[in-house]
Amino acid sequence: MEKWPVGVFTSIDAGLGVDLAVAREIGIPTVQIHAPRKGNRTAKHAAEILQRLSAFGITVSAVFGGFEGESYADIPTVAQTVGLVPAEYRQQRLAEMNEISDFTKALRCNVIALHLGFVPHQTESVLYHEVVEVTRKLCRYAQTNAQSLHLETGQETAEALNQFMDDVGEDNLFVNFDPANMILYGTGQPIAALRTLGPRVKSCHFKDAIWSDAPGETWGTEVPLGEGDVDIQKYMDTLKEIGYTGPLTIEREIPEQPEQQKQEIGQAVRLIERCRS
Ligand code: MG
Repeated sequence: MEKWPVGVFTSIDAGLGVDLAVAREIGIPTVQIHAPRKGNRTAKHAAEILQRLSAFGITVSAVFGGFEGESYADIPTVAQTVGLVPAEYRQQRLAEMNEISDFTKALRCNVIALHLGFVPHQTESVLYHEVVEVTRKLCRYAQTNAQSLHLETGQETAEALNQFMDDVGEDNLFVNFDPANMILYGTGQPIAALRTLGPRVKSCHFKDAIWSDAPGETWGTEVPLGEGDVDIQKYMDTLKEIGYTGPLTIEREIPEQPEQQKQEIGQAVRLIERCRS
């Protein structure tokens, strides 16, 4: 693959990404896909999507898992509902991630990804060890499909995420770096976090945000790329510095305004092209 291709986050029938047709219209060569809803993760559906992608000349660089019952309403709700951390959903969601891994293989893609949820800060706690264990199981399942697992950043500091990944200890576990999430969740300066995670970053999002007045307690605000606190040129320079050469995947989560979303993604592509050059 060409170095630093521009990508976009897309959705089939769930999640906040754009339709594949938008990626085609804008001329984007590679996408991440939010996995379809339960019941739609069949080999037949994968074959249909693959046919559409190949007609568009688009490749898939990662498939993101997501689950019913997750809510990003506010930071405490994320802690209670998102990912593999909440105990009441954990086994069922692990089974769903395994299914998503098989679906991803049918799409000829070798990366699954997700928001794991808020990993507990107390590394001696029972919950922390349970989350390490379930992540290890998912890595091992992904390995049977020759895949890596990428964890989305934001809910932990870079240092805590490094510690967690060391504790899991699987060599197919990496990071999908999202600079805006560091700001939205108030977990650290994105550029410093990117340097700290360094070679573990194997995919990334291009998204921008403004810090909240009470970082970590209330959300920051997501804004169009280039209008927030990330510093996109510095972000691009730092990706280069850490040796990253993969896709630069735009994520813009305003599906209720599809025309605005499309226009902003077009502007984001031009901004990235300028920074990349
Ligand atoms: Mg993201």
